Amino acid sequence: MERRSKRAKNEKKVFVVFGLGRFGRSIATTLADGGCEVMVIDKDPGKIQEMAEIVTYAMAADVTDVETMDSIGISNFDGAVVAIGQSLEASVMITIMAKELGVPYILAKAQTDIQGKVLKKVGANVVIYPEKEMGIRIAHNLLMGNFFAAVELSTTFSMMELDTLEKWDGYSLSQLDLRKKYKINVVGLKRNSTFDINPDPEMPLSKDDTLVVIGKNDILNKLVEMKKSE
Ligand code: ATP
Repeated sequence: MERRSKRAKNEKKVFVVFGLGRFGRSIATTLADGGCEVMVIDKDPGKIQEMAEIVTYAMAADVTDVETMDSIGISNFDGAVVAIGQSLEASVMITIMAKELGVPYILAKAQTDIQGKVLKKVGANVVIYPEKEMGIRIAHNLLMGNFFAAVELSTTFSMMELDTLEKWDGYSLSQLDLRKKYKINVVGLKRNSTFDINPDPEMPLSKDDTLVVIGKNDILNKLVEMKKSE
């Protein structure tokens, strides 16, 4: 029986990270800090040595070496992260192997759309493009203005702080009906130094209040512009 199916629900999750570039290192370190068991594999012994103290198990090996990969029991892991950007051959090989051995969740990093398509085809559950995705995220934050804290929830939706527009002063959330008018959801309200995650819909807003809202990026941008031009 596999170790995964025997583990109790509250047992630590176990991940394997292939490739210790900047991306792989940051994933492995964060998973380890978050209390997971993490194994890392890289062909560069220096990189393995650097991570040895941080993760549960660090192994210097070439992922294209089928025998060695077979011997580590990949099927026991909850998830595999394929973080080898520059060698598509190595990424493809390890993704296929992890898929065939039944790893339930494989996340692969790609540098181009073609690489991403290939990795998806051979079994990656999720393909991410860190540079491209980070570029989009940062551009959205710039569009929204630096003084508003925004958290991008997807490429379409964000959660952000929005200072109350002057024309909303004195009106309650139920009177303003922002959900209908702007398709935004108010999930919190900051007043003085207090934060209310369940603001009373009948309470009149003050122009000094800050709302925490979730909505579409283009609409949030529009509201930020309206605030700026007051
Ligand atoms: P970054 O995350 O820094 O952007 P990258 O996408 O440029 O990295 P690479 O430099 O190609 O990725 O590789 C990341 C790591 O994968 C390196 O540490 C490299 O030693 C390792 N690596 C590359 N090929 C193999 C392989 N066949 N087997 C094991 N490790 C490998």
